[in-house]
Amino acid sequence: MSRESTTTFYKLAIAVIGGVCFFLAWFNIKPEVLNWKFAVLLLFTILIAPRMNIALPRSKFILSFSDSMVFLAFLLFGGEAAIIIATAEILANCLYLKFKGIEFPRFTILFNIGLIALTTGITYNVWSWIPRAANINPTSAITTNLITTLGILALSQFLAASVFASIYYALKTGTTPWQAWKKEVFSFSIAYFAGAGLAGIFFKLLNYADVYSIAISLAAFGIIYYNYRQIIGEMTSSIEQAEQAERDKAAAEREKRLEIERYADELSQTLRKEEENGKALRKSQRAFQHAALHDSLTKLPNRACFGEILKELIEENKSGADTKSYVLFLDLTRFKTINDSLGHSIGDKVLMIVARRMARMLRAHDKIARLGGDEFAIILRGLATDEKAEKVAWKIHQKIAQPFTLSKNKIHTSVNIGIAPCRNEYDTPEEILRDADIAMHDAKEKGSGVAFFSKQLRDRFLEQAKFEAELPFAIERGELSMHYQPIISLTDGSLTGFEALLRWNHHKLGFVPPAKFIPIAENTGLIIPITNWILSETCRQIAEWQNLSFATKELMVSVNISGKHLSNTHLINDVKKALGEANLSPSSLKLEITESAAMENAEQTIEILAVLKELGVQLSIDDFGTGYSSLSYLHRFPIDTLKVDRSFVNSVGENGEDFEILQTIVSLAKNLKMRVIAEGIETESQLNILKNLGCEYGQGYLMSKPLPKDAMAELLHKKQYWLPVAIAEEQAAPQTNRAKENVTVF
Ligand code: C2E
Ligand code: MG
Ligand code: MG
Repeated sequence: MSRESTTTFYKLAIAVIGGVCFFLAWFNIKPEVLNWKFAVLLLFTILIAPRMNIALPRSKFILSFSDSMVFLAFLLFGGEAAIIIATAEILANCLYLKFKGIEFPRFTILFNIGLIALTTGITYNVWSWIPRAANINPTSAITTNLITTLGILALSQFLAASVFASIYYALKTGTTPWQAWKKEVFSFSIAYFAGAGLAGIFFKLLNYADVYSIAISLAAFGIIYYNYRQIIGEMTSSIEQAEQAERDKAAAEREKRLEIERYADELSQTLRKEEENGKALRKSQRAFQHAALHDSLTKLPNRACFGEILKELIEENKSGADTKSYVLFLDLTRFKTINDSLGHSIGDKVLMIVARRMARMLRAHDKIARLGGDEFAIILRGLATDEKAEKVAWKIHQKIAQPFTLSKNKIHTSVNIGIAPCRNEYDTPEEILRDADIAMHDAKEKGSGVAFFSKQLRDRFLEQAKFEAELPFAIERGELSMHYQPIISLTDGSLTGFEALLRWNHHKLGFVPPAKFIPIAENTGLIIPITNWILSETCRQIAEWQNLSFATKELMVSVNISGKHLSNTHLINDVKKALGEANLSPSSLKLEITESAAMENAEQTIEILAVLKELGVQLSIDDFGTGYSSLSYLHRFPIDTLKVDRSFVNSVGENGEDFEILQTIVSLAKNLKMRVIAEGIETESQLNILKNLGCEYGQGYLMSKPLPKDAMAELLHKKQYWLPVAIAEEQAAPQTNRAKENVTVF
């Protein structure tokens, strides 16, 4: 059973037992008791006494006139009357309170009525027992009797009320009856003694005083009561004021405390936020630092970070570390092509795969970084010899060269690796990286894949860098000029034309060989404006020489065209423009394209050459025999001439094999209906061999070195036969001596 239902049950039980007590009293009361005096007491008890109760401030003690009236009823009319008056008073009081708007829990009014009826009933039994036990008259007004009687009545009322009320509160609140008695019941139960005292006084007055004395006593009592109420009222109001002040103070303090708590709360929140902000700031600082020092794509250290690592390495080296370290500079091949043809996202993935592959090849104390683009760098630490470093480099090279598939594309890439030993001479990270970079460029140039740094290499690269810086100013400073090397008909020794060869005479560095600056011009793209200048210069020059005499009007000029220019669609217009400006017939211009440049992008070459051919210019394959020509392409190229590379001519006298090659090239050219020019003829025996092979044209130091235009112009005036005298004699032998007379020996 729940506590609530137990309490309800208890309430109803008390109400029922109390009801029985009340009805027993009602039926047993003597009729003579129910007189006007009883009625006065009943009315007074119901209507006035409850309003006269005085509650002592700050206690549950109530000086109850109702209790006094109940005890007075005992003394005046007996127990039954007391039960009826007590019950009536509680009922009236409860109804009055209910009327005033006070809500009572269920069965509480019944319980209150039952409880008073029961406790008064118990007291009635005790009261009935007094004469027998204590041998006193319970209705006597003799003070000793009266005090005893009222004391017993009060004690009985107090105990009975205490027990039943404590049980009720214990059930209601879930505590023990003892605790409930101490807390709730004791203070109001004790009021019975005060009530009993008052009843005694009233009883005495009624028994011993006459009407006047009673009236005076009642008036005095009224005054005392009035004053007492006043005092109690004032006390109560000042206590209330004090309490209100205390409450206000407590409220203010509570408010203050709340404010402090709120403030503390806000403060701790602010601190927490500050801390969170601090954490976020530290985190973003760390992320920022990491981002500043790492490559976002491969997550490898970047150039700045690698620079710091190199700095430490240099310090270590200088402080006499006994292990050897090497810096590797790595550059991917074909990366631009992959990026351009397959897109940047594939390009990014390639970089990530390559970075992972490289990193996997390294030991824990080695370091790898992405310097930017397709360039990486590695530090190999603690290696004993250069050979070991080279071995690691080769392993990396092989690993990177392994093809892989990405989005259904087979990716072939490779890497050029330059190795620089970390020597004591290095002071900055840039120096060591520069040397590894130089070695990498050497590997790239040679096509070797891996190359070691050397000081000679650095000198060469520094020189190259110097040329690279100076070349752009060469045209405007007028340092470029053309030399012309005659191309001679080997059958009759006549001059057919020239090969125009570029010369650079630097104002400080002096003569720079074409082999050194032409590749730079090609790599920097400067070859295109330079070639345009050459085209206009040579076309203008040949047009001028053509106008010299009847013998020179058929002269033509060969201009070397770089592979870079060949792949540029502007070439056709550049050629047209040069011819137009010089007013030179297109058939007087021959363009030389090296075999390797022609084959590099054969289909495109065919298209451009076809347009040029249509224009009327002549076309020649230069350095033939050094590249890897496909015969089918060679057949499709609209070529007029094959120029045999001078290396074959040079060694033709000494090496039987080269003779064979020369013979093959000459017969190949003839079969393809092309003319053959042999270049680099230096000796008469070479000349004779070539003639015997049926080679129609030649150029070489034997006939003339390339000469500046003025020197060549002078020769043009003097010479008509350009072969050596002995050859001329031989050629002239079966003929007249006419040719011999015109020979100028040089
Ligand atoms: P190339 O087009 O094969 O030019 C022939 C080279 O052979 C020239 O060297 C010429 O001086 C050299 N030569 C000719 N006869 C002999 C000989 O009997 N013995 C020896 N040892 N050499 C001989 P050069 O002028 O030094 O030019 C070298 C290369 O530079 C040229 O080879 C050509 O590829 C390039 N070049 C020169 N001038 C130009 C130019 O104006 N434009 C382009 N694109 N390349 C040029
Ligand atoms: Mg040439
Ligand atoms: Mg050549």
